[in-house]
Amino acid sequence: MTTVTLIRGDGVGPELAAAAVTVIEAAAVDITWEEAVAGQEALEKEGTPLPPRVLDSIRKNRVALKGPITTPIGSGFRSVNVALRRELNLYANLRPARSMAGIKTPFKEIDLVVVRENTEDLYAGIEHRVGPDAAESIKIITRQASEKIVRFAFDYARKHNRSKVTAVHKANILKLSDGLFLEVARQVAGDYPEIEFEDRIVDNMSMQLVQKPQNYDVLVMPNLYGDILSDICAGLVGGLGVAPGANIGEELALFEPVHGSAPKYAGKNRVNPTAMILSAALMLDHLGEGEAASRVRKATEAVIREGKRVTYDLGGTAGTAEMAAAIADHLKQL
Ligand code: NAD
Repeated sequence: MTTVTLIRGDGVGPELAAAAVTVIEAAAVDITWEEAVAGQEALEKEGTPLPPRVLDSIRKNRVALKGPITTPIGSGFRSVNVALRRELNLYANLRPARSMAGIKTPFKEIDLVVVRENTEDLYAGIEHRVGPDAAESIKIITRQASEKIVRFAFDYARKHNRSKVTAVHKANILKLSDGLFLEVARQVAGDYPEIEFEDRIVDNMSMQLVQKPQNYDVLVMPNLYGDILSDICAGLVGGLGVAPGANIGEELALFEPVHGSAPKYAGKNRVNPTAMILSAALMLDHLGEGEAASRVRKATEAVIREGKRVTYDLGGTAGTAEMAAAIADHLKQL
Protein backbone atom coordinates (compact mmCIF):
# COMPACT_ATOMS: atom_id res chain seq x y z
CA MET A 1 0.00 0.00 0.00
CA THR A 2 1.20 3.51 -0.88
CA THR A 3 0.33 6.64 1.07
CA VAL A 4 -0.06 9.80 -1.01
CA THR A 5 -0.51 13.33 0.31
CA LEU A 6 -3.73 14.80 -1.10
CA ILE A 7 -4.08 18.59 -1.27
CA ARG A 8 -7.56 19.42 -2.53
CA GLY A 9 -6.76 23.10 -3.12
CA ASP A 10 -8.94 26.15 -3.78
CA GLY A 11 -11.74 27.08 -6.16
CA VAL A 12 -12.56 24.06 -8.32
CA GLY A 13 -9.74 22.08 -6.65
CA PRO A 14 -11.91 20.09 -4.20
CA GLU A 15 -14.31 18.93 -6.98
CA LEU A 16 -11.37 17.89 -9.13
CA ALA A 17 -9.62 16.09 -6.28
CA ALA A 18 -12.83 14.15 -5.59
CA ALA A 19 -13.03 13.25 -9.30
CA ALA A 20 -9.42 12.00 -9.34
CA VAL A 21 -9.94 9.95 -6.17
CA THR A 22 -13.06 8.33 -7.71
CA VAL A 23 -11.08 7.32 -10.79
CA ILE A 24 -8.01 6.06 -8.92
CA GLU A 25 -10.28 3.98 -6.70
CA ALA A 26 -11.97 2.52 -9.79
CA ALA A 27 -8.51 1.62 -11.10
CA ALA A 28 -8.12 -0.53 -7.95
CA VAL A 29 -4.69 0.80 -7.03
CA ASP A 30 -3.82 0.36 -3.37
CA ILE A 31 -3.45 4.00 -2.31
CA THR A 32 -4.23 5.62 1.03
CA TRP A 33 -4.78 9.37 0.90
CA GLU A 34 -3.31 11.57 3.62
CA GLU A 35 -5.14 14.89 3.47
CA ALA A 36 -3.16 18.11 3.90
CA VAL A 37 -4.85 21.50 3.80
CA ALA A 38 -3.12 24.38 1.99
CA GLY A 39 -4.39 27.60 0.40
CA GLN A 40 -7.38 29.70 1.40
CA GLU A 41 -8.79 27.33 4.02
CA ALA A 42 -5.39 26.99 5.72
CA LEU A 43 -4.96 30.77 5.68
CA GLU A 44 -8.32 31.28 7.38
CA LYS A 45 -7.88 28.53 9.99
CA GLU A 46 -4.15 28.64 10.65
CA GLY A 47 -3.00 32.08 9.50
CA THR A 48 -0.75 30.71 6.75
CA PRO A 49 -1.64 29.29 3.32
CA LEU A 50 1.18 26.75 3.58
CA PRO A 51 1.38 25.25 7.09
CA PRO A 52 4.62 23.29 7.77
CA ARG A 53 2.47 20.16 8.25
CA VAL A 54 1.80 20.12 4.48
CA LEU A 55 5.51 20.07 3.65
CA ASP A 56 6.14 17.46 6.37
CA SER A 57 3.43 15.19 4.91
CA ILE A 58 4.90 15.38 1.39
CA ARG A 59 8.44 14.82 2.70
CA LYS A 60 7.22 11.75 4.57
CA ASN A 61 5.11 10.23 1.77
CA ARG A 62 7.37 11.46 -1.07
CA VAL A 63 4.39 11.78 -3.42
CA ALA A 64 1.50 14.26 -3.53
CA LEU A 65 -1.55 14.89 -5.70
CA LYS A 66 -2.69 18.49 -5.62
CA GLY A 67 -5.59 20.59 -6.87
CA PRO A 68 -4.94 24.20 -7.92
CA ILE A 69 -4.37 26.88 -5.29
CA THR A 70 -5.40 30.52 -5.74
CA THR A 71 -2.70 33.20 -5.61
CA PRO A 72 -3.79 36.79 -4.88
CA ILE A 73 -2.85 39.18 -7.71
CA GLY A 74 -0.68 42.26 -7.13
CA SER A 75 -0.50 41.92 -3.34
CA GLY A 76 -0.99 39.38 -0.53
CA PHE A 77 0.97 36.20 0.07
CA ARG A 78 3.32 34.76 -2.52
CA SER A 79 2.23 31.73 -4.53
CA VAL A 80 1.78 28.54 -2.50
CA ASN A 81 2.35 26.63 -5.76
CA VAL A 82 5.73 28.26 -6.33
CA ALA A 83 6.62 27.89 -2.63
CA LEU A 84 5.86 24.15 -2.70
CA ARG A 85 8.05 23.63 -5.75
CA ARG A 86 10.92 25.62 -4.27
CA GLU A 87 10.71 24.32 -0.68
CA LEU A 88 10.62 20.71 -1.85
CA ASN A 89 13.17 21.30 -4.61
CA LEU A 90 10.82 19.94 -7.27
CA TYR A 91 13.08 21.31 -9.93
CA ALA A 92 11.41 19.86 -13.03
CA ASN A 93 7.91 20.68 -14.18
CA LEU A 94 6.80 18.18 -16.80
CA ARG A 95 3.78 19.12 -18.89
CA PRO A 96 2.82 16.77 -21.72
CA ALA A 97 0.33 17.95 -24.38
CA ARG A 98 -1.08 15.28 -26.69
CA SER A 99 -3.97 15.34 -29.17
CA MET A 100 -6.93 13.17 -28.22
CA ALA A 101 -9.65 11.89 -30.56
CA GLY A 102 -12.98 13.59 -29.92
CA ILE A 103 -11.56 16.99 -28.97
CA LYS A 104 -12.36 19.64 -31.55
CA THR A 105 -9.27 21.75 -32.23
CA PRO A 106 -7.71 22.90 -35.54
CA PHE A 107 -4.44 21.26 -34.46
CA LYS A 108 -3.90 17.55 -35.15
CA GLU A 109 -1.34 14.94 -34.14
CA ILE A 110 0.29 16.97 -31.44
CA ASP A 111 2.61 15.22 -29.05
CA LEU A 112 4.67 17.77 -27.14
CA VAL A 113 6.31 17.76 -23.74
CA VAL A 114 7.20 21.02 -22.01
CA VAL A 115 9.96 20.68 -19.43
CA ARG A 116 9.93 23.84 -17.33
CA GLU A 117 12.64 24.80 -14.83
CA ASN A 118 10.78 25.19 -11.56
CA THR A 119 13.01 26.84 -8.97
CA GLU A 120 14.53 30.06 -10.29
CA ASP A 121 14.22 32.70 -13.06
CA LEU A 122 11.77 35.52 -12.23
CA TYR A 123 9.98 33.15 -9.82
CA ALA A 124 12.81 33.48 -7.28
CA GLY A 125 10.56 36.14 -5.74
CA ILE A 126 13.24 38.85 -5.49
CA GLU A 127 11.33 42.06 -6.17
CA HIS A 128 11.43 45.54 -4.74
CA ARG A 129 10.02 48.97 -5.34
CA VAL A 130 12.50 51.68 -6.22
CA GLY A 131 10.66 54.69 -4.85
CA PRO A 132 7.00 55.28 -5.67
CA ASP A 133 7.28 55.03 -9.46
CA ALA A 134 9.53 52.09 -10.30
CA ALA A 135 9.96 48.43 -9.36
CA GLU A 136 12.57 45.78 -10.05
CA SER A 137 12.23 42.00 -10.30
CA ILE A 138 15.41 39.98 -10.44
CA LYS A 139 15.80 37.09 -12.87
CA ILE A 140 18.13 34.39 -11.57
CA ILE A 141 19.64 31.76 -13.86
CA THR A 142 22.33 29.43 -12.52
CA ARG A 143 24.56 26.89 -14.24
CA GLN A 144 23.56 24.24 -11.70
CA ALA A 145 19.77 24.58 -12.13
CA SER A 146 20.07 24.93 -15.90
CA GLU A 147 22.19 21.81 -16.15
CA LYS A 148 19.75 19.84 -13.98
CA ILE A 149 16.71 20.78 -16.03
CA VAL A 150 18.36 20.24 -19.41
CA ARG A 151 19.66 16.83 -18.28
CA PHE A 152 16.17 16.00 -17.04
CA ALA A 153 14.77 16.84 -20.51
CA PHE A 154 17.37 14.70 -22.31
CA ASP A 155 16.97 11.80 -19.86
CA TYR A 156 13.20 12.01 -20.35
CA ALA A 157 13.69 12.00 -24.14
CA ARG A 158 16.01 8.99 -23.94
CA LYS A 159 13.68 7.04 -21.64
CA HIS A 160 10.58 7.77 -23.73
CA ASN A 161 12.19 7.31 -27.17
CA ARG A 162 11.81 10.94 -28.12
CA SER A 163 13.98 12.14 -30.95
CA LYS A 164 14.51 15.86 -30.35
CA VAL A 165 15.02 18.39 -27.54
CA THR A 166 14.52 22.10 -28.25
CA ALA A 167 15.89 24.67 -25.77
CA VAL A 168 13.75 27.81 -25.61
CA HIS A 169 15.29 31.12 -24.51
CA LYS A 170 15.67 34.85 -25.14
CA ALA A 171 19.47 34.85 -25.25
CA ASN A 172 19.54 37.48 -28.00
CA ILE A 173 18.36 40.09 -25.46
CA LEU A 174 19.08 38.51 -22.06
CA LYS A 175 22.64 37.75 -23.08
CA LEU A 176 23.93 36.89 -19.62
CA SER A 177 21.04 35.02 -17.96
CA ASP A 178 19.43 33.23 -20.90
CA GLY A 179 22.87 33.22 -22.53
CA LEU A 180 24.07 31.01 -19.66
CA PHE A 181 21.02 28.74 -19.98
CA LEU A 182 21.70 28.27 -23.71
CA GLU A 183 25.43 27.71 -23.18
CA VAL A 184 24.68 24.97 -20.63
CA ALA A 185 21.99 23.42 -22.88
CA ARG A 186 24.48 23.16 -25.76
CA GLN A 187 27.07 21.54 -23.47
CA VAL A 188 24.62 18.99 -22.04
CA ALA A 189 23.32 18.15 -25.54
CA GLY A 190 26.83 16.87 -26.37
CA ASP A 191 26.31 14.01 -23.89
CA TYR A 192 23.25 12.77 -25.81
CA PRO A 193 24.47 12.38 -29.40
CA GLU A 194 21.55 10.15 -30.41
CA ILE A 195 19.01 12.90 -29.61
CA GLU A 196 18.70 15.87 -31.95
CA PHE A 197 19.17 19.25 -30.29
CA GLU A 198 18.18 22.71 -31.45
CA ASP A 199 17.27 26.04 -29.85
CA ARG A 200 14.59 28.63 -30.51
CA ILE A 201 14.04 32.19 -29.32
CA VAL A 202 10.86 32.20 -27.25
CA ASP A 203 8.86 34.61 -29.42
CA ASN A 204 9.61 32.61 -32.57
CA MET A 205 8.88 29.40 -30.65
CA SER A 206 5.42 30.73 -29.74
CA MET A 207 4.59 31.30 -33.41
CA GLN A 208 6.09 27.96 -34.48
CA LEU A 209 3.99 26.16 -31.89
CA VAL A 210 0.84 27.56 -33.47
CA GLN A 211 1.97 27.10 -37.09
CA LYS A 212 4.03 23.89 -37.06
CA PRO A 213 3.58 22.16 -33.69
CA GLN A 214 4.26 18.75 -35.25
CA ASN A 215 7.88 19.80 -35.85
CA TYR A 216 8.57 19.78 -32.12
CA ASP A 217 8.97 17.11 -29.48
CA VAL A 218 10.50 17.84 -26.04
CA LEU A 219 10.88 21.55 -25.18
CA VAL A 220 13.08 22.67 -22.27
CA MET A 221 13.11 26.22 -20.92
CA PRO A 222 13.46 28.53 -17.92
CA ASN A 223 10.53 29.00 -15.55
CA LEU A 224 8.57 31.94 -17.01
CA TYR A 225 8.66 30.78 -20.64
CA GLY A 226 7.60 27.32 -19.44
CA ASP A 227 4.64 28.80 -17.58
CA ILE A 228 3.44 30.62 -20.71
CA LEU A 229 4.28 28.06 -23.39
CA SER A 230 2.66 25.23 -21.45
CA ASP A 231 -0.65 27.11 -21.63
CA ILE A 232 -0.13 27.55 -25.40
CA CYS A 233 0.49 23.80 -25.69
CA ALA A 234 -2.63 23.12 -23.60
CA GLY A 235 -4.59 25.33 -26.00
CA LEU A 236 -3.33 23.32 -28.98
CA VAL A 237 -4.78 20.07 -27.65
CA GLY A 238 -8.13 21.32 -26.36
CA GLY A 239 -7.52 23.67 -23.46
CA LEU A 240 -6.49 23.77 -19.83
CA GLY A 241 -9.16 21.24 -18.92
CA VAL A 242 -7.11 18.44 -20.47
CA ALA A 243 -3.52 19.46 -19.57
CA PRO A 244 -1.81 17.45 -16.80
CA GLY A 245 1.46 18.19 -15.01
CA ALA A 246 4.11 16.79 -12.71
CA ASN A 247 6.65 18.51 -10.47
CA ILE A 248 9.62 16.23 -9.95
CA GLY A 249 12.64 16.43 -7.65
CA GLU A 250 15.44 14.06 -6.66
CA GLU A 251 13.26 12.23 -4.16
CA LEU A 252 9.85 13.91 -4.04
CA ALA A 253 7.15 14.44 -6.65
CA LEU A 254 3.92 16.44 -6.75
CA PHE A 255 1.30 16.01 -9.45
CA GLU A 256 -1.15 18.75 -10.42
CA PRO A 257 -2.97 20.08 -13.50
CA VAL A 258 -1.49 22.97 -15.50
CA HIS A 259 -4.60 25.06 -14.88
CA GLY A 260 -5.51 27.24 -11.91
CA SER A 261 -8.43 27.32 -9.47
CA ALA A 262 -10.96 28.75 -12.02
CA PRO A 263 -12.75 30.62 -9.20
CA LYS A 264 -15.81 31.51 -11.28
CA TYR A 265 -16.69 27.81 -11.54
CA ALA A 266 -15.96 26.94 -7.89
CA GLY A 267 -18.62 24.66 -6.41
CA LYS A 268 -20.56 24.51 -9.69
CA ASN A 269 -19.59 20.98 -10.78
CA ARG A 270 -18.78 22.37 -14.24
CA VAL A 271 -15.08 22.09 -15.05
CA ASN A 272 -13.30 19.27 -16.81
CA PRO A 273 -11.65 16.72 -14.47
CA THR A 274 -9.39 15.33 -17.26
CA ALA A 275 -6.31 17.44 -16.40
CA MET A 276 -6.48 16.33 -12.76
CA ILE A 277 -7.16 12.70 -13.67
CA LEU A 278 -4.29 12.60 -16.18
CA SER A 279 -2.05 14.20 -13.52
CA ALA A 280 -3.02 11.29 -11.27
CA ALA A 281 -2.09 8.93 -14.14
CA LEU A 282 1.37 10.55 -14.27
CA MET A 283 1.53 9.92 -10.53
CA LEU A 284 0.71 6.23 -11.06
CA ASP A 285 3.54 6.01 -13.62
CA HIS A 286 5.87 7.54 -11.03
CA LEU A 287 4.73 5.02 -8.41
CA GLY A 288 5.58 2.13 -10.73
CA GLU A 289 1.88 1.49 -11.48
CA GLY A 290 2.31 1.93 -15.24
CA GLU A 291 -0.36 -0.63 -16.10
CA ALA A 292 -2.99 1.15 -13.97
CA ALA A 293 -1.86 4.50 -15.41
CA SER A 294 -2.40 3.26 -18.93
CA ARG A 295 -5.87 1.93 -18.01
CA VAL A 296 -6.77 5.35 -16.56
CA ARG A 297 -5.60 7.03 -19.78
CA LYS A 298 -7.50 4.55 -21.96
CA ALA A 299 -10.73 5.04 -20.00
CA THR A 300 -10.37 8.85 -20.10
CA GLU A 301 -9.70 8.79 -23.84
CA ALA A 302 -12.66 6.49 -24.43
CA VAL A 303 -15.08 8.81 -22.60
CA ILE A 304 -13.73 11.82 -24.53
CA ARG A 305 -13.92 9.95 -27.85
CA GLU A 306 -17.55 8.97 -27.20
CA GLY A 307 -18.29 12.60 -26.36
CA LYS A 308 -21.51 11.84 -24.45
CA ARG A 309 -20.59 12.37 -20.82
CA VAL A 310 -18.07 15.22 -21.18
CA THR A 311 -17.95 18.74 -19.74
CA TYR A 312 -18.84 22.06 -21.40
CA ASP A 313 -15.32 22.80 -22.67
CA LEU A 314 -15.47 19.60 -24.77
CA GLY A 315 -18.91 20.46 -26.10
CA GLY A 316 -20.87 18.36 -23.59
CA THR A 317 -23.30 19.00 -20.77
CA ALA A 318 -21.93 16.63 -18.12
CA GLY A 319 -20.71 17.94 -14.79
CA THR A 320 -17.30 17.27 -13.26
CA ALA A 321 -18.59 14.39 -11.12
CA GLU A 322 -20.55 12.82 -13.99
CA MET A 323 -17.54 12.81 -16.31
CA ALA A 324 -15.40 11.27 -13.57
CA ALA A 325 -18.09 8.63 -12.97
CA ALA A 326 -18.14 7.85 -16.72
CA ILE A 327 -14.35 7.32 -16.65
CA ALA A 328 -14.65 5.16 -13.52
CA ASP A 329 -17.40 3.07 -15.21
CA HIS A 330 -15.15 2.52 -18.23
CA LEU A 331 -12.26 1.51 -16.00
CA LYS A 332 -14.33 -1.15 -14.32
CA GLN A 333 -15.02 -2.70 -17.76
CA LEU A 334 -11.32 -2.80 -18.78
P1 NAD B 1 -7.26 29.23 -14.58
O1 NAD B 1 -6.42 28.14 -15.12
O2 NAD B 1 -7.90 28.99 -13.25
O3 NAD B 1 -8.42 29.54 -15.63
C1 NAD B 1 -8.14 29.98 -16.95
C2 NAD B 1 -9.31 29.61 -17.87
O4 NAD B 1 -9.34 28.20 -18.05
C3 NAD B 1 -10.68 29.99 -17.27
O5 NAD B 1 -11.55 30.38 -18.30
C4 NAD B 1 -11.13 28.69 -16.64
O6 NAD B 1 -12.51 28.61 -16.48
C5 NAD B 1 -10.58 27.66 -17.62
N1 NAD B 1 -10.31 26.40 -16.94
C6 NAD B 1 -9.38 26.18 -15.98
N2 NAD B 1 -9.43 24.91 -15.57
C7 NAD B 1 -10.40 24.31 -16.29
C8 NAD B 1 -10.94 22.98 -16.31
N3 NAD B 1 -10.46 22.01 -15.51
N4 NAD B 1 -11.95 22.72 -17.17
C9 NAD B 1 -12.43 23.66 -17.97
N5 NAD B 1 -11.98 24.93 -18.00
C10 NAD B 1 -10.97 25.25 -17.17
O7 NAD B 1 -6.35 30.53 -14.59
P2 NAD B 1 -6.55 31.94 -13.91
O8 NAD B 1 -7.99 32.36 -13.97
O9 NAD B 1 -5.51 32.77 -14.49
O10 NAD B 1 -6.15 31.69 -12.40
C11 NAD B 1 -7.07 31.47 -11.33
C12 NAD B 1 -6.28 31.27 -10.05
O11 NAD B 1 -5.54 30.05 -10.11
C13 NAD B 1 -5.25 32.38 -9.77
O12 NAD B 1 -5.30 32.67 -8.39
C14 NAD B 1 -3.93 31.75 -10.15
O13 NAD B 1 -2.86 32.29 -9.42
C15 NAD B 1 -4.18 30.30 -9.75
N6 NAD B 1 -3.32 29.34 -10.46
C16 NAD B 1 -2.93 28.25 -9.76
C17 NAD B 1 -2.19 27.26 -10.37
C18 NAD B 1 -1.77 26.07 -9.56
O14 NAD B 1 -2.36 25.80 -8.53
N7 NAD B 1 -0.77 25.32 -9.99
C19 NAD B 1 -1.87 27.37 -11.73
C20 NAD B 1 -2.32 28.47 -12.45
C21 NAD B 1 -3.06 29.46 -11.81
